[in-house]
Amino acid sequence: MSSDCLFCKIASGAIPAAKLYEDDEMLAFRDISPQAPQHFLVIPKQHISGPGAVTATEAELVGKMVARAGEIARELGIGEGFRLVMNNGAAVGQTVFHIHLHVLGGRPMGWPPG
Ligand code: AMP
Ligand code: ZN
Repeated sequence: MSSDCLFCKIASGAIPAAKLYEDDEMLAFRDISPQAPQHFLVIPKQHISGPGAVTATEAELVGKMVARAGEIARELGIGEGFRLVMNNGAAVGQTVFHIHLHVLGGRPMGWPPG
């Protein structure tokens, strides 16, 4: 737990969130500023600063986050079309430096992203 980390505070329950899923090692909750009709985040409870800090030690955990993202996407009715995004670094728009998997769906999305 990093005391000044927003997502550590959400993971510990100190700050509320619209939770979709929780277990011992991860949490999923709706993004407070949704960029699509469905937009939620999957985070580990463990503090990892971003995808660039993931090593083999965390590989299984990150794989489980992806698996859970798909499960929740199917529950929300976007299983046939969803986008996973992980930003690493302020240069590409990372604003919260606790790794999070964006899951977006429910509208057409072009590629490449703008
Ligand atoms: P990123 O730009 O990849 O770091 O994404 C951070 C995301 O966290 C943004 O999409 C924000 O809208 C979202 N966010 C920030 N604060 C909260 C919060 N308290 N609850 C839910 N989502 C949040
Ligand atoms: Zn954190």
